Amino acid sequence: MTFPLCTDVLIVGGGIAGLWLNARLRRQGFSTLLVENASLGGGQSLKSQGIIHGGAKYALHGALSGASEAIADMPRRWREALAGTGELDLSGVRVLSDAHYLWSPGTLAGNLSSFLASKAVRSRVDQVKGADLPPALQHPDFKGKVYRLNERVLDVPSLIERLSLLAGDSLLAAEQIEVLSGTESEPAEPAEPAELSGQTEQSAQADPREPTELTTPAELLGLRIDGREVRAQRIVLSAGAGNAQLLADLGIRQPSMQRRPLHMVLVKGPGLKPLYAHCLGGGPKPRVTITSHPAADGQWVWYLGGDLAEAAGVARDERAQIGAAQQELAQLLPWIDLSTAQWATLRVDRAEPAQSSLGRPDNAFLAEQGRLLVGWPTKLALAPDFADRVLAALARDGIRPGPTSTRPELPRPPLGRPFWENLLP
Ligand code: FAD
Repeated sequence: MTFPLCTDVLIVGGGIAGLWLNARLRRQGFSTLLVENASLGGGQSLKSQGIIHGGAKYALHGALSGASEAIADMPRRWREALAGTGELDLSGVRVLSDAHYLWSPGTLAGNLSSFLASKAVRSRVDQVKGADLPPALQHPDFKGKVYRLNERVLDVPSLIERLSLLAGDSLLAAEQIEVLSGTESEPAEPAEPAELSGQTEQSAQADPREPTELTTPAELLGLRIDGREVRAQRIVLSAGAGNAQLLADLGIRQPSMQRRPLHMVLVKGPGLKPLYAHCLGGGPKPRVTITSHPAADGQWVWYLGGDLAEAAGVARDERAQIGAAQQELAQLLPWIDLSTAQWATLRVDRAEPAQSSLGRPDNAFLAEQGRLLVGWPTKLALAPDFADRVLAALARDGIRPGPTSTRPELPRPPLGRPFWENLLP
């Protein structure tokens, strides 16, 4: 038989949000258990481009209102963690690039000048030329302007691996998660669907048209995980796209989640040199965002997002999407030889709290009621902000580390693999 477990904080979901939070809680002496039903990082986190945004991209269309946005502080917090001197010790995580670049091809000055006029970025970008250009842009035929943003790009597989080490014995692989509610002697009646109140910044609010009054569900004591009772002072759902189903299982209607589908493109070839850049087009979003990831065979994989991967790209089938990417690269970087390159696409959804407008949140989102907290970091870079919000809720409620108890050895979830190794073997 399996014995019940008790922990201070039970976290569901081992992407960047759950793993970062878990490591911070453990550092503060909390006992934690993190449950993952597939592989660590294997949801959105490993499929991200790994850019530690400081918000510069959003200043392009005036969406970054200034220092109040949590994202502006993220590059510093990650830098300190990567140096081993911050809130977590992430030394050993591979930094792919010290900077992300903003690149305006040809004479497209309009967008760039309003961007550079923005106070939010003025002090954070420098123009680069000649030998300082990213290697893929160092060619006599290259025309255009390139600015260096103070935003690092990380190798996410090594980040997930490091965070899984910091998790110690707190990881649990499990398939079935059920609600453990009511009291020991008196199991709860099924509850009416409820809503959690959002603790948010205004840009990340759940749809205000939905009712916000809370119907308290039966008391949630913990979760039954693959048949084993796990009781906790607090339960945090950080399961990315999986939060929607978990909330439905708990009978909770709010906060609701939105999925933003993307159709990304991958290309691997001997002619590729590393490039980390947003290429500007005429619109508010980058025309294409390119990051470069090391493949096991020593070649570089370019991972293409930005406007290319959004609505029009989502509507294309794989062949047409590869065709569109080939055209973009031939136009923007005609000197790069892609004649022997391998191509693939990846469909992936971003999972976020439902938004009343189409704007993107620049803060993590957390909603809570009683023992239950649920949220989305909305960006990999905002994982520290997500953890701050949970820690603030615990401090406000006077939740402190409880007595420690010995724990049996638990099945450990596997690490997610770099997805390009499967798509472009
Ligand atoms: P996830 O990484 O999706 O993790 C959720 C985890 O929960 C998964 O491991 C899943 O298996 C698990 N899970 C689900 N259901 C259950 C369940 N019932 N029980 C147990 N476990 C469960 N952000 C940036 O800052 N910079 C970028 O450059 C960037 N690029 C991106 C590019 C793409 C193509 C995409 C899709 C996103 C990008 N993002 C980026 C956003 C970023 O990836 C996400 O905001 C972030 O990874 C979300 O982390 P998460 O931990 O909430 O979710």
